[in-house]
Amino acid sequence: MVQPVLVVQGLGVVPADTPVLRADDLGVLRGDGVFETMHVRPDGRGGVQPWLIGEHLARMARSAARMELALPAEDALRELAAAACAQWPAEAEGALRLVCTRGAEATAATGGPVTCFATVNPIGAATLAARRDGITVTTISLGYPADARTSAPWLLGGVKSLSYAINMASQRWALAQGADDALWVSADGYVLEGPTSTLVWLSGDTLYTVPVETTGILPGTTARHLLDNAGDLGWTAAERMVTPAELAAADGVWLLSSVRGVAELRAIDGATQPSSAHTEKLRAYLGFTNLGY
Ligand code: PLP
Repeated sequence: MVQPVLVVQGLGVVPADTPVLRADDLGVLRGDGVFETMHVRPDGRGGVQPWLIGEHLARMARSAARMELALPAEDALRELAAAACAQWPAEAEGALRLVCTRGAEATAATGGPVTCFATVNPIGAATLAARRDGITVTTISLGYPADARTSAPWLLGGVKSLSYAINMASQRWALAQGADDALWVSADGYVLEGPTSTLVWLSGDTLYTVPVETTGILPGTTARHLLDNAGDLGWTAAERMVTPAELAAADGVWLLSSVRGVAELRAIDGATQPSSAHTEKLRAYLGFTNLGY
C-alpha cells in the first residue's frame, strides 16, 4: 500500500497525518485560497513527475491574482512539488495537490504568511473505474446564464479556489440520482463543465470544448493540452456552445481532468450514449494507459 505524502512550506516533509492548519486559517474558515491537482506519473528516469506542472502553476498564479492572494514564487511551488514527488514510489501514479490559503485570520490583514503545502495520494478505485468503464452523468443547472460570470468578476469564474462546496454538493446530488457525475448546465440551457472536469466532444473530425472566455468555466489543463494537439490525432480543434441534446448526436463525449484523465460519457440523463471508438486512443495519447498499476 502506497503511503500518502505531505510537504509543508517552511517545515519540509512531515508524516502525512501531521496537523498543519491553525483553527483560524482562512482556507478552513472561508475556503479562501487556491489549489491545483496534478497527475503524478513516471518520468522515464526512474522517478515520477507532475504532468503539465507548468500549465498548472500558470493557472494557480492566475487564480491567486484574481483573488489578490500573495502566492509564493513559482520556484518555491516547484520545489514543494518536487519534494513531494521525491517521496513517491518510482513508477507509481498518484495525485499531487498544491494548496495555498490566505493564512491565519489574525495575521492575514497585515500581510501575514500564506499557508502552503503539497500532498500526494494514491488514485481511488472510482477514478480508475471511470477511466476504464466511462461514466453516466446527470445534467443540473448552475443557475446562471452562460455568460453571467464574464461580467461578474466576484463570482470568480475561471478561478480554482478552495471553495468547492458547491462542486462537491453537485456530485453528491448526481450520485443520489443514480449517476456517476454531474454536468453543469447554464440557466439558458448550455452545457458548461463538470464540477471537477472539462467537457470535450467529437463531431466528425472536429474536437470541441466549451469556450472559457464567454462562460467563466475553469480553463482545464487536460482539455487544453488535448485540443492544442488535436492535429496529432487527425482532428481539428474548435470551441463552441453546446446543448445536452446536441451532445447526444456527437461521435464521442468525454469529461477530462488531470487525475481521472479521460472518462467517456456513457449516458446523459438516463439516455445511453453510443460507445465511442476513440476513447482508448485519447487515453493512450494523454498517457493514462500502461501506468503499471
Ligand atoms: N473544471 C473544474 C471545475 C475543475 O475543478 C477541474 C479540475 O479539477 C477541471 C475543470 C479540469 O481541469 P484540469 O484538466 O486542469 O484538471
